[in-house]
Amino acid sequence: MFANKVVLVTGGSSGIGAATVEAFAKEGASVAFVGRNQAKLKDVESRCQQYGANVLAIRADVSKDEEAKTVVQQTVDKFGKLDVLVNNAGILRFASVLEPTLIQTYDETMNTNLRPVVLITSLAIPHLVATKGSIVNVSSILSTIVRIPGIMPYSMSKAAMDHFTKFAALELAPSGVRVNSVNPGPVLTDIASGSGFSPDLLEDTGAHTPLGKAAQSEEIANMIVYLASDKAKSVTGSCYIMDNGLALQ
Ligand code: NAD
Repeated sequence: MFANKVVLVTGGSSGIGAATVEAFAKEGASVAFVGRNQAKLKDVESRCQQYGANVLAIRADVSKDEEAKTVVQQTVDKFGKLDVLVNNAGILRFASVLEPTLIQTYDETMNTNLRPVVLITSLAIPHLVATKGSIVNVSSILSTIVRIPGIMPYSMSKAAMDHFTKFAALELAPSGVRVNSVNPGPVLTDIASGSGFSPDLLEDTGAHTPLGKAAQSEEIANMIVYLASDKAKSVTGSCYIMDNGLALQ
């Protein structure tokens, strides 16, 4: 489905991002992916090479403008064009409005979950216009529901991301570029480890959804691939909820 297509995934070295890199690689895409940990990048690269995929592992911290600015150019230098951008890199940090460290956590969260999305997208747009490509942002059901104390900066970053998705979809539609997001509920990844939340946050939240479970990264990756594909050629400006029914409660 993605033969001769070039995909760039941020935060591609673990969790949903790594599953997304592999899913596009299996579909025949050339995939560039960004992460900070060399060993994890290498691991994903080796798995993709088993499918004979062309991959480019880019070591960069997207919260630093000077590093984030290079990732689109490195992708185009290697593969000659860009068809799909997946803005997936993100962090989760506990921060209560009652804590004096709130503003530091707010800045760290916004500088990782939101600012690089705007920066990298703006640099990718000329290339995506040239290929009539598409963008998929990895948001969260927490962009719309207020449920878990201490998750305010994260929720704010994802709420802003949803507005970015919709404005970008509106403004890029005349160029034939589609922009959507996937908004998962709990997914079993390592995002909660070291976050200040319980390490069981995702499993426990999943257990209390109507379907009684958290999702696997591969399920989210499949939706990302679908939204980026021609099968979704009439879909733009959508924030696609995959939350095991969490928001119904
Ligand atoms: P994860 O921790 O496994 O993956 C996050 C990825 O982002 C990692 O590869 C990490 O290296 C990368 N990253 C973080 N900060 C970075 C930086 N400064 N520079 C470069 N890369 C950076 O967690 P995940 O759950 O796979 O998260 C992926 C996305 O999914 C995030 O945007 C997250 O908000 C979103 N999400 C996750 C869940 C969940 O329950 N796991 C639910 C909804 C949304």
